[in-house]
This record gives sequence, structure tokens and C-alpha cells, in this order.
Amino acid sequence: MILRLDRWGAKLPPPSDPDPEGAKAVQELMGGRFGEMSTLMNYTFQSFNFRGKQTARPFYDLVANIAAEEYGHIELVAATINTMLTGASPLTNGSPPGDRLAGVKDGGYPYHFIAGGQGALPRDSHGAPWTGDYVFSSGDVVEDLTHNFFLETGARNNKLKVYEMVDHPAARALTGYLLVRGGVHQIAYARALEKLTGADLTKLFPTPRIATDKIPECRPHIERGEHVKLYRFSPDDYREIVALFNGPHPETGEELVVVDGPPEGTLPNDLPPQPAVFAPDYAPEEIAEIAQRLRKAAGLPDQPTARVAHSGEAVREEGIVGKVADKLTP
Ligand code: MN
Ligand code: MN
Repeated sequence: MILRLDRWGAKLPPPSDPDPEGAKAVQELMGGRFGEMSTLMNYTFQSFNFRGKQTARPFYDLVANIAAEEYGHIELVAATINTMLTGASPLTNGSPPGDRLAGVKDGGYPYHFIAGGQGALPRDSHGAPWTGDYVFSSGDVVEDLTHNFFLETGARNNKLKVYEMVDHPAARALTGYLLVRGGVHQIAYARALEKLTGADLTKLFPTPRIATDKIPECRPHIERGEHVKLYRFSPDDYREIVALFNGPHPETGEELVVVDGPPEGTLPNDLPPQPAVFAPDYAPEEIAEIAQRLRKAAGLPDQPTARVAHSGEAVREEGIVGKVADKLTP
């Protein structure tokens, strides 16, 4: 089973200028071969299929535990895509059919607007759906760990390229965070292989040669020590990761640490409605009214019981979205 926390692994900026073309490139980090859906599903299936868990407990715990962190990574990639798409269609509602979406058909990814409500899709940067063919789960622990090291290496390569291709602040915040966390997973799998086989994998670092300490969006995470920490994503399980994730960081020499619990994370942003694509409706205020009635009938307080970092309404009122939309509104 898996528990869920309504928090993000890292802070993302609220929507600013929309960037549908950039969002299309970021889709590679979601549903591409080396995207977060691939890391999530590779480690998830390897953990499901693991035989002899009790006798090989540290190795099982490592793969299962990292799978849980990857769930949070797909969540953050989706939030980034959604942030970048916010404001790309006009924010006005109630108008008769016209050409409100004419401006988004070129450059970006029309499927974001046609099949989705300006939201992330389980697809790559050219629209091909993520596929289970990307999952490698041989059952052989050495093979699977070697594959996972390679997968994290390729994932960091793609993240750096997306970082360099897309300068939207949400994409930069995302890739800065994921480059650091991917580095931790790369080390975790290398350490596991070293301990299992005796191979000296420290010589493979850094691969690819990414100087994360020189990337401004990586630095805050490095300063908080996120490059040496592996979190234990469970109330009481996966305790044996400490047997593998230890010793010096292969690049900095700092001691690797297992943190006993999930990261604190941050409150998620609440992105504003996009009525031109019926998200969440052509007239979002109706849904809000119904929700308020139901909330009252259930004895809940008038204000929602959960908090968000930036509310969609505030984003709308501050006028920081809809710049493209304003241009398109006749
Ligand atoms: Mn990841
Ligand atoms: Mn990873």
C-alpha cells in the first residue's frame, strides 16, 4: 500500500508568463523513456516482483523506498507543466463558441488543450504515451540495480537538457530539484552494487558531468544537504536502507545520511481555473458554490481544512497570469 501526503517535494513559483512550448519539452521528464514515470514504475515493479525479500532485505527496502519518492517526482513534474500552461488560454468565461483557443494551436502541444484541461499528460515531449516497455524488472538484483543506476544517469542527462532548453522559472525550479535528488538515487544504486559485488563504482562519478553546485536552482537544495540525504518514505517500514546508503558521497566526500521519515516538503500551489478548456468547468464558481453547500452540510468549517501556498484566486487577482490570454481575448 502507499500513503499520500498533500505536499510537494519542492517549492515551485506561482504561475507567471505561460509557456506552452516549454511545457511540451517538460513532458519528456514525465512520460519519456528516462522520465519520472519510468523511474517510478521501474522501481515499483522491481519491488513488487522481488523474491527472497527477507534474506535480501536491505536491497528490497532500497528499491521499494526510492519508488515512493519517485511518486512525488511525477507529482512535481505535473505541477510544473500545469503552472506553465496556466494563463495560456483566455480566463474569461461564458462567451459563445469563438476562437478562444486559436492562439495555442501552434508551437505548444494541442493535446494539452484538446484532451486535457491544460494539464500534464502521461506522454513524452512529442506526445507518445508512456509505455510499460520502459520497465526493466528482470528479477536479478545485480541486473536490476545496474539498470537503475543507468536509468538515473539518463534521467539526469535529460533533466539538464530540459534545464538548458527551457528558462521558465517553474521548469528551472523543477529541474534544479530533480537533478539533486536524481544524484542521490544514482549514488544509492551505486552503493548497493558496490556492497553486493565489490565493484568500485565511485570512479563512474560524476556521470554525466553535471556541476550541480554551479546551477543556481540546485544550490538551495545542496545547501540544505539534499544531495546527501535519503528519506525513509514510510511510517514504520524500509528501515534496512541504512545498511546500503552510508559512507562518503563520491563527489564531495561528505557522509551520506538516511533521514528517518519523509521530507517536510512544501504546501502545494492552487492553480486557478482555466474556463476556456472547462477546467474545472465553464463556470467554475458554480462548482465552488456546490462545494460550499456540501461542506456546510457535512459540518465542515466555511474555510477549507487544508492550506495551499498560493491560492488560484490570489494568482488571478494579482494579474500575474493571462498575459498571453489577454492578447488573445478579442
Ligand atoms: Mn525522480
Ligand atoms: Mn530517481
